[in-house]
Amino acid sequence: MTSNTSASPVCGDSKKDMKYLLVSGGVISGVGKGVITSSIGTLLKSVGLKVTAIKIDPYLNIDAGTFSPYEHGEVFVLDDGGEVDLDLGNYERFLDVTLHRDNNITTGKIYQHVIQKERKGDYLGKTVQVVPHVTDAIQEWVQRVARIPVGKNDETPDICVIELGGTIGDIEGMPFVEAFRQFQFRVGHQNFTNIHVSLVPQPSSTGEQKTKPTQNSVRQLRGLGLSPDVIVCRSKNPVSDSVKEKVSNFCHVPPDQVLGVQDCSSIYRVPLLLEQQGILQFLVKRLAISPPSPQPKITLHQWKNLADRYDSHSKEVRIVLVGKYTKLEDAYTSVIKALKHASLLCRHRLVLACVEADDLEGDSLQKNPPKYFEAWKLLSEAQGLIVPGGFGTRGTEGMVVAAKFARERKLPFLGVCLGMQIAVIEFARNVLGLKDANSTEFDPSTTNPVVIEMPEHNPGQMGATMRLGKRKTLFKTNDSLLKKLYQFGSTSDYKFVEERHRHRYEINPNMITEIEKKGMIFVGHSTDNKRMEIMELKDHPYYVGVQYHPEYLTRPITPSAPYLGLILASSGKLSRFLTRGCQLSPHTSYDYNPDDELDDEVTQAFSRFGNLGLKESEADSVFIEKTD
Ligand code: GLN
Repeated sequence: MTSNTSASPVCGDSKKDMKYLLVSGGVISGVGKGVITSSIGTLLKSVGLKVTAIKIDPYLNIDAGTFSPYEHGEVFVLDDGGEVDLDLGNYERFLDVTLHRDNNITTGKIYQHVIQKERKGDYLGKTVQVVPHVTDAIQEWVQRVARIPVGKNDETPDICVIELGGTIGDIEGMPFVEAFRQFQFRVGHQNFTNIHVSLVPQPSSTGEQKTKPTQNSVRQLRGLGLSPDVIVCRSKNPVSDSVKEKVSNFCHVPPDQVLGVQDCSSIYRVPLLLEQQGILQFLVKRLAISPPSPQPKITLHQWKNLADRYDSHSKEVRIVLVGKYTKLEDAYTSVIKALKHASLLCRHRLVLACVEADDLEGDSLQKNPPKYFEAWKLLSEAQGLIVPGGFGTRGTEGMVVAAKFARERKLPFLGVCLGMQIAVIEFARNVLGLKDANSTEFDPSTTNPVVIEMPEHNPGQMGATMRLGKRKTLFKTNDSLLKKLYQFGSTSDYKFVEERHRHRYEINPNMITEIEKKGMIFVGHSTDNKRMEIMELKDHPYYVGVQYHPEYLTRPITPSAPYLGLILASSGKLSRFLTRGCQLSPHTSYDYNPDDELDDEVTQAFSRFGNLGLKESEADSVFIEKTD
């Protein structure tokens, strides 16, 4: 690859320039720009650079908090309570970093900032305009946020990858494109690079890969003053050399800076695919960096092992997700990732069926019998059930019957946030005999409110008013499955875990004694002891509820503990795991292969430091090295 370079500041030098890598998209959205951006970040991290990420969403909303899951998929929640685009979840999982709410920029946030400044009189006497005021605000925001530490050592990042949402040419994106046109001069050529992700379709009529859409989008980008250094062609099949040459000729980019990313068996292959095409060497030269370790280290080896392991499973674990936004898989992105990560560790291929909760309700038998029977068939064939988070009444009665089915049939069950509330409602109705037990969210006049609103979280507006972000959960007893799963492999005794929350309702503290008498135990509480955080049912292989969302902190190598429990139980490995003193023994359930270095690493990492969510300082420093 070619590049124009000059002096190479050594990484770790506090006076060094921040490097910026902008990823723009062409043709259509939804081609995997987020995964490509995260993968490039992973490669940069693999040579020892400290990488941070910014996602730009050019919509007018301040944040993703008020979106319906059908609009943009899941709302991802950060430690600081920021409700952000789900792509930030990709960055956190790929790069193993903790991002902040300001790492998600929206047009709404920028305008709010500019208008507040105008009201304060900061622009006194001037007409406030998109150029220069909005474009300046964007550039200042990026420069400020890029320097905020996101790793566990509180160090300033070396490089910031920025994903510009949408596609080039969208009206909403224009101020951002203009801001970055100016930005390349503000920070200097060797500190800024643009990678353009485009689509190369292959219409079945001719079977040929077509470059015209890419040519048009690059022309548009150039017309707006940004010249891509690298073009990544997304395609169904590998992009041929002649197609790359054509893109190179028409788009004014050297042939070896045109890369192909075809559809892969798993996202773990994407960093490897990009690395094979030399992107890392190009970026190191183009941005004039001296990375601490010039060769990609163990991280890439781990990704290869993850990808190989993903492709090589033969055993399946069938999980049913009963939810209310099942028509859009993106609505449950992190839940599905957490299930996949746990299955990967247990060496099973996840077979996930999403069932729309209201198809399980009695009404559905009248309205749409085939759907009703199909839904129940899937549930009856499941090895495990998950009821994830959600809002509003629709579908909740279907979730209640599913929870009853799992409780009575001893089917492994995990209830997350709404799912835990549902499990408690079902238990109150059918075990305590409180027939109208409900959440006041669904039935404000119930005489048995087992789930009630948290009054301090209802100030009369919807945005950012929930109990949000990272909070501690204290274990109340050692006799807890989740406690064992969280401290899996560790010798320390964990008193608490920290997980992310997003809810307005809670289990009614006045009904706890009655519920616990019948065997549903709240083994984890909030630090003030008022809020029920973890529920476990006695005399059931795995019937667990959590008020928080553990899926937001899952990682491929260190899956979330409650999800790991569900998959272990569903694949018949939980009791062996428990009788072995909570070890995934390399010689038994872990199917240890001495030639497989990843297995070795994972086993060692787990056996020394336990599972995710533990905030022991030693564990932190190792996991930043060992996980992606
Ligand atoms: N609707 C419930 C609440 O607000 C559950 C929320 C959720 O599942 N995230 O408490």
